[in-house]
Amino acid sequence: MYRIMTPGPTSVSDSVMRARSLWFPNSDTDEDFFEEYHGLCLLLAELLHTENEVYIMDGEGILGLEAACASLTEPGDRVLVIDNGIYGRGFADFVSMYGGIPTLYSSDYKNPIDTEALSIFLEKDHAFKYATVVHCDTPSGMLNDVSAICPLLKSYGILTVVDSVSAMFGAELRVDGWQIDIACGGSQKALSAPSGLTLISVSPDAFDAIDRRKTPIASFYCSIAAFRNYYRDKWFPYTMPASDIYGLKEAVRTVREDSSRLERHARIASAVRSALTKAGLTLYADGGYSPTVTVFNVPDGLNADEIINIMRKEYGILIAGSFDILSGKVLRIGHMGNNANVGDMADTLEALDKTLRFLGFGIKYDIKSAFTESL
Ligand SMILES: *Cc1c(COP(=O)(O)O)cnc(C)c1O
Repeated sequence: MYRIMTPGPTSVSDSVMRARSLWFPNSDTDEDFFEEYHGLCLLLAELLHTENEVYIMDGEGILGLEAACASLTEPGDRVLVIDNGIYGRGFADFVSMYGGIPTLYSSDYKNPIDTEALSIFLEKDHAFKYATVVHCDTPSGMLNDVSAICPLLKSYGILTVVDSVSAMFGAELRVDGWQIDIACGGSQKALSAPSGLTLISVSPDAFDAIDRRKTPIASFYCSIAAFRNYYRDKWFPYTMPASDIYGLKEAVRTVREDSSRLERHARIASAVRSALTKAGLTLYADGGYSPTVTVFNVPDGLNADEIINIMRKEYGILIAGSFDILSGKVLRIGHMGNNANVGDMADTLEALDKTLRFLGFGIKYDIKSAFTESL
């Protein structure tokens, strides 16, 4: 066993574990289960500040991204893929897979999307059915200002798909106020439930686009339309994982009762950043820091895997490296959901401090002290 301090999966509380071990009904036929599922979707909608439909789908966060693209894309559709991170760019694959034509709007990975520049781009070219944007691009810890980007896109009639998997519930997200047509989330990040569920909110405009399709959605498992009438018809497209949903329900209850949640994420994130920089480490990005994850550069001459392994073996704490173009270059500390607490973070930073000293890195200021001092 070790403490999971990665930016997803996050550590799961005992109460969520217990909820998953309860007796569960037949989720295909039991009317009470439909009521429970529906009630949970309404609670999620409230947390997301939306009157849109919310569905819980059986599959990890990635399922939501693919379901959005599968359900909206028809062959030949032009789709704007906003790319300032690895997940951002990754949307292009889902778009192409369903026959769409992705247009990448790329900017550097160390800064959030500049809405002014995007606005200038859109003046010239705005013939897109929908656009994709990542709220928090987790491999680099970049938080984009979805509150400005989505209304801008909608002003051109472009539907908006937002991957908020690693931001939702740890960073502010207002689906209706920010005009997000499809918002995607997952169970294993700031909700701190086990991996396995996708949360997705779908606006009336997105449903209109689905209704106007001339070709059928080229997937069943990834079809949002397949969920549309589940409550009226008391029929799910496939058997719902009841235990996972009971766990999610308990996680949602915990999040709803946690009134200082967003403030705490922001405060801990800011203290982690200042502690690392005071110690002589450098952050990966130049701005747009997410309140859910901090990404810093592996010091010259040190090895990311070695740092991770020592922290896990000697101190029982797991932090994460990154992947794709950032593989081996950065380390990531998750402070989302259950991980966003002062005690675990102080222990994590103490373990990092000792590990870096052991490996010969000249720490300029005790990392844990710097953290507690700047809280
Ligand atoms: C975690 C995450 C996902 C979902 O990925 P999984 O492999 O299903 O966990 C999607 N987008 C972002 C930005 C994420 O951080």
